[in-house]
Amino acid sequence: MQIKELLKQSPSEQEVTVKGWVRTKRGQAAVTFIAINDGSTIHNIQAVAEGGLIDEETLKLVSTGACVAVTGKLIASLGSGQAVEVKAEKVVVYGTADETFPMQPKKHSMEFLREKAHLRFRTNTFGAIFRIRHVLAFAVHKYFNDNGFFNLHTPIITASDAEGAGEMFHVTNFDMEKPPRAEDGSIDYSQDFFGRQTSLTVSGQLEGELGALALSKIYTFGPTFRAENSNTTRHLAEFWMIEPEVAFYELEDNMNLAEDFVQTVIKYALENCADDLAFLEKRLLEEEKNKPQNERSELSLIEKLKFVIENQFQRLTYTEAIDILVRSKPHKEKKFQYPVEWGIDLQSEHERYLVEKHFKKPVILTNYPKDIKAFYMKLDDDNKTVRAMDVLFPGIGEIIGGSQREDDYEKLLSRTKEVGIDPENIWWYLETRKFGSAPHAGFGLGFERLVLFVTGMTNIRDVIPFPRTPKSAEF
Ligand code: ATP
Ligand code: MN
Repeated sequence: MQIKELLKQSPSEQEVTVKGWVRTKRGQAAVTFIAINDGSTIHNIQAVAEGGLIDEETLKLVSTGACVAVTGKLIASLGSGQAVEVKAEKVVVYGTADETFPMQPKKHSMEFLREKAHLRFRTNTFGAIFRIRHVLAFAVHKYFNDNGFFNLHTPIITASDAEGAGEMFHVTNFDMEKPPRAEDGSIDYSQDFFGRQTSLTVSGQLEGELGALALSKIYTFGPTFRAENSNTTRHLAEFWMIEPEVAFYELEDNMNLAEDFVQTVIKYALENCADDLAFLEKRLLEEEKNKPQNERSELSLIEKLKFVIENQFQRLTYTEAIDILVRSKPHKEKKFQYPVEWGIDLQSEHERYLVEKHFKKPVILTNYPKDIKAFYMKLDDDNKTVRAMDVLFPGIGEIIGGSQREDDYEKLLSRTKEVGIDPENIWWYLETRKFGSAPHAGFGLGFERLVLFVTGMTNIRDVIPFPRTPKSAEF
């Protein structure tokens, strides 16, 4: 039986078997207390081995990190902190762990744990994070299913660069030492596996749109890859993205969807991860104690999550945001690292100022200059801005990027050329604007940024089991 279920039982001396990993062992010859965890919950179950009942040689093998099966009666616990415990009658040690086991019961730095990514699951913190990650993933599918969306599996290998940023990992079958060459000396991709140059996708959006223009409401939830060399706490080279796309939605519907979606999945986590969130909240409070007073957050983790689900996001245009930033104290005092003027791509410091200092709540910025956004966004009537929307969160900055899509064939074609994309490469995308085009909109949410927010962790490397970042793909 899973420990999560065992801990809910009433102690009627029924015989049970617990299997899991030893977190701690304490006590002496007369009685030994073994805390066992199987990952089903943050809580351990305590097994009590009284002297004589379990042979000493076996008990010696029971140490932090060992994997054991303990059989015995489920009894009421005398100790505080748990209702039940197992009075051990039989102990089987599946796998021992000596004192070199790195996850000893003491505080470890996150950097240390990243170097031990194969074992960090066995800590309370990472157990909590990955259970919450699961619950959030489930909540995402539930939300869309409950609201009439179809899950569309878009390709991972692609021949088009949806974002036009050129930050893609190449996929090839060539022998890199001697790829076939064309007459002019360039690599001849027509001889490659797909007969063309291919890459790992940066977004499922373009294909998602094709689905939405028939199924009306679709979403994708899959891995995406970006070869951007940005060593930040918010970027991974491989991350999971959720991309709904809806026919007949305009920008405002898109904002409503984004807000309701994020609030609903966070609410689901609050309702279904209470123990893990309480643990992470306590952990965060401990961390905060080491910070200077003025850098400590005003809200605890759970208060912060409740705040987000109970308050409407602040909506304003990019142009209004620039006005606020230009008049802001850090700008006047030259505290921003990057300049602020209409036309710039907002930096994280600007986004966080708006969210954390100015509005003190999540913000949705809309109608960005077309030059800093992707070619597929719908042009506004002024021909200067596009129907883009970014959702900005405290501590994170951009968590969602989306837009209403250009549905006019001629306008889309000319934007395609303007940004230097060969229309031939995405003829299939353009063609959907020729046959039964419709207003439609969608967005992309980086799943790890959501997990980051909900768990209160500060580095994106700690919310995905095996992070892929520049110079790091060991596990
Ligand atoms: P940023 O400005 O933060 O680099 P972006 O504008 O490049 O993000 P989009 O192309 O709009 O991102 O992608 C949609 C969403 O995917 C983002 O809002 C973010 O949540 C997530 N995302 C983008 N790049 C990454 C990354 N390298 N690692 C993790 N999540 C990412
Ligand atoms: Mn974006």
